[in-house]
Amino acid sequence: MKKLAIVVPCYNEEEILDYTINELQILMEILVEDKLISPSSTICFVNDGSTDETQDIIDGICSRDSHFTCVKLSGNYGHQKALLAGMNSVDADMIVTIDADLQDDPNAIVEMIKKYNEGCEIVYGVRNKRKCDSLFKKYTALGFYKLMQMLGVNIVYNHADFRLMSRNAVKKLQEYKEKTVFLRALVPLLGLKSDKVYYNRCERLAGESKYSLPKMLSFAWDGVTSFSVFPLRLINSRD
Ligand code: UDP
Ligand code: MG
Repeated sequence: MKKLAIVVPCYNEEEILDYTINELQILMEILVEDKLISPSSTICFVNDGSTDETQDIIDGICSRDSHFTCVKLSGNYGHQKALLAGMNSVDADMIVTIDADLQDDPNAIVEMIKKYNEGCEIVYGVRNKRKCDSLFKKYTALGFYKLMQMLGVNIVYNHADFRLMSRNAVKKLQEYKEKTVFLRALVPLLGLKSDKVYYNRCERLAGESKYSLPKMLSFAWDGVTSFSVFPLRLINSRD
């Protein structure tokens, strides 16, 4: 049976972590019972320089349940680098990344595993609706996808970083020597067999969004400067 690792980046998530741990524990039990994954599967929390009680909560669950592991970063490096650190540290056949607030429905992982068993190396989680997002979030997200499309950056519409990757896909990703980590554009470039699963995104149940406007803008900037030739052409056309 194939081993699954779920990678969960955490930045000041003390308010939601107990809920997340409980939900992921239940999901893992079901997946093992249904013989979809090996009992040696793991959940890896990546603490991205949290300043609250996040690390204590992670230490607590790691000492009680050997399915849980932790990567502790020396500072706050951001969502993308936290994801990459987690993906590079786990040893599994399938690696799923999911945000700590579980706004992305973890039950979609069942469908992702089925697609993996059918031969997919990458399975993108795609949001069906944005009913629960605030107007601000809805429009900044829409603007982000439109901008990327306009500038020729190939990303999957309405897919954030909730995805399954095979061991091979992660290995191939490690061969990129990019300094700026913008996984949404890097992963499709791998050119491996992929598919999508759709789910409804729900509200954050506790705590606040850790993606402030400056963090969002810096994320979009990374995407544009790393994956679009548009800024270079713009400079060139001024000569
Ligand atoms: N996160 C992180 N480092 C950061 C900011 C966020 O690891 O500097 C994590 C956060 O803990 C969560 C995920 O990235 O697991 C997405 O953040 P959030 O849910 O706040 O973003 P939103 O859903 O509002 O876009
Ligand atoms: Mg969230």
